[in-house]
Amino acid sequence: MTGVQSVYKEMITFFRPLWPGEDKPLVLGEGKEDAPVLMLVGEAPGETEVLKRRPFVGKAGKNLDEFLTLARLNRADIFVTNTVKIRPSEIGPTGRTRNRAPNREELSLFVPWLLREIQAVRPRALVTLGNVPLKALTDGKQTVGGCHGQWLASRAGVPLFALYHPASIIYRRTLAPVYEQDVLTLADALEKGEPYLIPFSD
Ligand code: URA
Repeated sequence: MTGVQSVYKEMITFFRPLWPGEDKPLVLGEGKEDAPVLMLVGEAPGETEVLKRRPFVGKAGKNLDEFLTLARLNRADIFVTNTVKIRPSEIGPTGRTRNRAPNREELSLFVPWLLREIQAVRPRALVTLGNVPLKALTDGKQTVGGCHGQWLASRAGVPLFALYHPASIIYRRTLAPVYEQDVLTLADALEKGEPYLIPFSD
């Protein structure tokens, strides 16, 4: 069993008794498990991810494919995971279950596991999608609006590149060219193998 699989085994044991009677399956990370060029960290799985028990499938998978094409990478070369590994959900006004942002309790439960996951996978770089993974992996003061397209130091000791969450672009079309430029900046840095570790700035 590889390093990250043994972390996942421990996670399953830890989370199994936490929400008795509720159906909250874990959607774990997948991809190149040892020293990939990058580890992509999303927010949390959605409905399709829970159905398939895989991160970034369905609509988010299409966004991921676009990211990979722009970044000149293959899914098999990277590791893909989420900050929170259950689907944070609520019942909307029409009675349908809908996604919501992870709450404080979910983040404090899952972020220590994310740090262990990163240590086990040993990616050369982290790429965060949106504010949730960015805040979880830095000092919590950074926002994606302020530091997208830039390299930051992370709490995991691995350089972190911040991107907007591709889903947010659907609601703010003006971000589309910004996101694309950021992904191209990332691709260039990865190809050049730049020493991209930059300390936190206030
Ligand atoms: N699906 C995921 O797995 N992660 C996200 O952040 C969004 C959708």
